Amino acid sequence: MQQFQDQSFPIKIPLEFANLIDKNNPNDPLLKQVISVNTQHQDAFSASPLADESNSPVAGLIHKYPNRVLLIASRVCAIHCQYCFRQNFNYNEHDAVSNWAEIEDYIRQHTEIDEVILSGGDPLSLSDEKLQSLIDKIEVILHIKTLRIHSRSAVVTPSRLTPDFIKMLNKTTLNMVMVLHINHANELSNEFAIAIRKLSNISLLNQSVLLKGVNDSVPVLSKLSLGLFDLGILPYYLHLLDKVNGAEHFLVSDEDSVKLHKELSKKLSGYLVPRLVRDENLAFKTLVT
Ligand code: SF4
Repeated sequence: MQQFQDQSFPIKIPLEFANLIDKNNPNDPLLKQVISVNTQHQDAFSASPLADESNSPVAGLIHKYPNRVLLIASRVCAIHCQYCFRQNFNYNEHDAVSNWAEIEDYIRQHTEIDEVILSGGDPLSLSDEKLQSLIDKIEVILHIKTLRIHSRSAVVTPSRLTPDFIKMLNKTTLNMVMVLHINHANELSNEFAIAIRKLSNISLLNQSVLLKGVNDSVPVLSKLSLGLFDLGILPYYLHLLDKVNGAEHFLVSDEDSVKLHKELSKKLSGYLVPRLVRDENLAFKTLVT
């Protein structure tokens, strides 16, 4: 029996996600992502493993790669994933919406930037009005060609994908990419399937985190890739765990991860095999492509 931990990152589970959990299964893969357990601290784990703030020349903006910047569009998430590397992020000092003037100056001065990524928290926690206003401001910067939205809310609260929201994204003049965060095929509800198919003007990709006891097996990852593809979503990244305190029990060793990935590659067509990567602060290190 797992022991619940004293919470610094409070449990938050939206009803739509809770409804997908098998209440009779204490090892349900969705449940495991949102409850915290007492873990044995390991030296390699820390409060903020990626130190995002050190790559932030302007509050609310993270600039790690020459051609793209990531904006902290919101501090709020629909769900609290207990392995989240940003659970201790200093959101008070990083709010792209309130610091837009400075951010816009920075982006305009750096004409090598052609892509803006909205992240958080989850950008879908903003109202449509706030999101539209942000998109409008980005659209008029001539050297920005692509807008990417990172979201887990889309799958854990598919009711957020309203007709108005879908219309807003489908009509933007920028190249639109949505990178979803889905770890297990059980997260793919009928409501999500119906809504996501309507995002016809958008490239849809997925990133997963490899989590022990959740998705660290070939059958589970295969089923996820096939389920995503059915919905027009390409598996993009399979991230190794970022070593944040409290997530020690989710760690899959490098050796096992590479082995698993090789087995997955034998089973699936190449375009269904996500790249196995580790975020190392300044760059993604691809372990296997
Ligand atoms: S939705 Fe993303 S940012 Fe929010 S808690 Fe989960 S992993 Fe972290």
